[in-house]
Amino acid sequence: MQGLFRVAVLPGDGIGPEVTAQAVKVLKAIEEVLGPMFRFQTGLIGGAALDATAVPLPAETISICNNAQAILLGAVGGPQWDNKRPELRPEQGLLQLRQRQELYVNLRPAKVLDSLVNLSALKPHLVRGTDLVIVRELLGGIYFGNPRGIFSKNGERMGINTEVYREHEVERVAHRAFQLARLRRRKVTSVDKANILESSRLWREVVTRIARMYPDVELKHLYVDSCAMQLIERPTSFDVILTTNMFGDILSDEAAMLTGSIGLLPSASLGERTALYEPVHGSAPDIAGRNRANPIAAIASAALMLRYSLRMEAVGAAVETAIEKVMKRGARTSDLPGKNRPVTTSRMGDLIAAETKKILKSSKFRLQ
Ligand code: NAD
Repeated sequence: MQGLFRVAVLPGDGIGPEVTAQAVKVLKAIEEVLGPMFRFQTGLIGGAALDATAVPLPAETISICNNAQAILLGAVGGPQWDNKRPELRPEQGLLQLRQRQELYVNLRPAKVLDSLVNLSALKPHLVRGTDLVIVRELLGGIYFGNPRGIFSKNGERMGINTEVYREHEVERVAHRAFQLARLRRRKVTSVDKANILESSRLWREVVTRIARMYPDVELKHLYVDSCAMQLIERPTSFDVILTTNMFGDILSDEAAMLTGSIGLLPSASLGERTALYEPVHGSAPDIAGRNRANPIAAIASAALMLRYSLRMEAVGAAVETAIEKVMKRGARTSDLPGKNRPVTTSRMGDLIAAETKKILKSSKFRLQ
């Protein structure tokens, strides 16, 4: 078993197990062509873990993740656990996992597929060709800074949060953004509010310094308000968007609407030691257990794992091309409008797995 890439599979709740099974199906299809590559170990997280062990992130899951080189996660949460105390909610399992693994950068690609251009909230001519990635700092900024809280002064209450960025926090996420840009179109847009905020002025200064180590990558700075506008006005002008925790949280949801359906969007959270790959969507309790969920976000998350954790660019690209080809041929799960009868979750997984194998077996495919 040594030499195999160790993947922790955490299906979670609701549609999590259904979509994660399709991602694993595609990875196993890759092994059928390229030979054994992965060692999968499954663990409980979220509500499923609460039911079985009374905690949302059991020790056994922590140990599986510590031993893994990458983590594939489905989703957590559901109404049956909504009345639990805050520290015993399913979402705590995921938050604790991100912090324990020190996942300090979150990547959210937003790519508009030609075959789905009509799903976008924007007019097709504006979004066609959009292919960008948001690189969001995940462990710093206003979500974690001190002082924070609700205090009373002079008989009035006030709420306080503090944006703090230390140089090393900006440096490490900036490096990730420039390295990623080198695998893409070599353009980084760093987004801040340096006209108002000192933390942003430091951010801009550090990013400019790091950029000198990547002379082949073009760097542009934008204020966050201007970036929000340009994402709608000309989304195709962006390649890599590098930004802070809060600005990234907001801009990545805006970018998600460019692509149309939440069932299509993958994400990656990277640290120094391991990485977590998961769909952007939640556990969708309204359709759970009915073989109706769209597994594409989960499968595309596995493709990101191939790219970023295994450095198998060509295999990751093969999975993404397989998704596009299956879409072009008209297969749709019920969340996507289409002319034909919708296909089930597992059927969509079968189609993408079969197409991936076909691409890998074709004479044109090269591993590097
Ligand atoms: P959601 O993303 O689960 O669902 C929103 C809507 O999108 C629903 O109508 C759902 O049916 C649909 N949808 C989502 N994913 C889909 C897919 N793959 N295919 C087809 N349709 C899909 O968000 P929500 O309803 O706000 O939250 C439900 C639960 O998920 C809550 O408990 C929430 O806390 C949790 N949640 C978890 C995560 C996570 O695990 N990372 C993220 C968001 C929400």
